[in-house]
Amino acid sequence: MTCKGICIRHKAQKPVGTGRYSTGQKRCQICELFLKWDGLWCPCCGYRLRTRPRNLKYKVKLRARREDQQLLLQPRQN
Ligand SMILES: [Zn+2]
Ligand SMILES: [Zn+2]
Repeated sequence: MTCKGICIRHKAQKPVGTGRYSTGQKRCQICELFLKWDGLWCPCCGYRLRTRPRNLKYKVKLRARREDQQLLLQPRQN
């Protein structure tokens, strides 16, 4: 799987005010550029195209209040 230079013809322009993936552009890791291409596979190198960003911003960090829980769980010995 190598870049044959075909991807340049399908190179996508950077959209203004929105993300690349949200406009349907796909990223090829081999060719290292964004393509305007309907298929799942790169027309140039044949590698699977990425349709979503790697870092998901909507990952929610849950911080459990462990200190409070530990206090409640401690058995009382009277
Ligand atoms: Zn290419
Ligand atoms: Zn490619």
